[in-house]
Amino acid sequence: MIPFPESIIACPDCDLLQRIPTLTPGGTASCLRCGHTLASSKPDSLDRTLALTVAALIALIIANVMPLMGLSAVGRQAVTTILGGVLKLWQQGHQITAVLVAFCTVVAPTVHIGFTLTVLLAVRQTPAPIWVGTLLRMADFNQPWAMLEVMMLGILVALIKIADLATVIPGIGMFAVGALIMFIAAMTVSFDKHQVWSQIRWVDGEGQQLTSSPEFKEPAEGEVEGKETPGELTGIKMGLVLCEGCGLLTKPTDLEKPGYCPRCGQELELRRPNSIQRTWALLIAASICYIPANLLPVMSTTTPTYAEKDTIMSGVVLLYVHGSWPLALIVFVASVVIPMAKIVALAYLLISVQCRFMRSKEERIRLYRLVEIVGRWSMLDVFVVTFVVALVQLQPLMSVGPGTGVVFFAAVVVLTMLAAETFDPRLIWDSRNNKEEQNDEIC
Ligand SMILES: [Zn+2]
Ligand SMILES: [Zn+2]
Repeated sequence: MIPFPESIIACPDCDLLQRIPTLTPGGTASCLRCGHTLASSKPDSLDRTLALTVAALIALIIANVMPLMGLSAVGRQAVTTILGGVLKLWQQGHQITAVLVAFCTVVAPTVHIGFTLTVLLAVRQTPAPIWVGTLLRMADFNQPWAMLEVMMLGILVALIKIADLATVIPGIGMFAVGALIMFIAAMTVSFDKHQVWSQIRWVDGEGQQLTSSPEFKEPAEGEVEGKETPGELTGIKMGLVLCEGCGLLTKPTDLEKPGYCPRCGQELELRRPNSIQRTWALLIAASICYIPANLLPVMSTTTPTYAEKDTIMSGVVLLYVHGSWPLALIVFVASVVIPMAKIVALAYLLISVQCRFMRSKEERIRLYRLVEIVGRWSMLDVFVVTFVVALVQLQPLMSVGPGTGVVFFAAVVVLTMLAAETFDPRLIWDSRNNKEEQNDEIC
């Protein structure tokens, strides 16, 4: 197994081999074919990210300890923290949703900040221990599930829903969540992971020396740039495998069984295993859950005189009638349009790959990235339900409980997010020039 120098990379989104030029401070290098950002130079990255991570940790503690918001109605007071909301869901018999909300709002952000902080402290000694790489990989894997900004919007919608019933007072926790969102965003922008990877001791213990050993041959200019057929020389054609964990390019002896990454120890795969079948399975499960998610009530309101059950759609109508049409539109798009659009878009991508469509590859990769980015915003309604339920417990005057629909709804969001992660975008680019793909389009 021969590792390649870090200046040569196979694009993670399209597998095109490219040489990264020396970047000017603040400069970035994008993929020639699909536009994916391959590398960026971030001066003082590690120190700046460390400062931001410490600030984020302080904000995280305040956000979880102090009340998010309080409510006062008919002489009664109620306050809630993030975990208070989770606890209410749990007590009302919605344990699965409660665990999911706790994971996305408390566990994932804590893991992200804690792991990043440990990595940044450990990497100050060179070479940094091997476990730093494992933590970095886990922090990466965990990041899409930290949904504080979606929760913040959810709290805002919850506040407007409750505003008619009672006076709502934003708490210190809410401002801390706002600060936390900004610190985490700044951490992501300033963190240069390549810099960390270059300082971590390799799993095989000798990898770094291998690149400078006589056994290793630096590929010639044209060998990588593919000057004769620009945009066509890919990792798969050259027998190179990209590690999805750390971004190292290696040339395994057996391409069928590439083994493990010599730097981070992750199992190497030419393409994500059974990507198409697994994505289909997750999509079909999501489509099935989409029906009860929209038909069953997500929230039920009980007062001495009436009991009312709200589905997602009737909740949108209620928001619209109460005069906040922009929020009604946001909830409608996040809860009804996005999950449906995600299912349709991923199904289209799968069919296009299975039928080996040759056209509009750039459009399809853009569609895939859009699905990845907007996917998490569908979680909005789950957070709205959590915080409305947590606050409006004014028995016997009025109480709000979660409905069965909410668990199906959460399932749709999770299943479509997993489907997007299982789909391998490089399949869009794998042309029929590959050996076993000589036969023509199937569809
Ligand atoms: Zn690319
Ligand atoms: Zn690796």
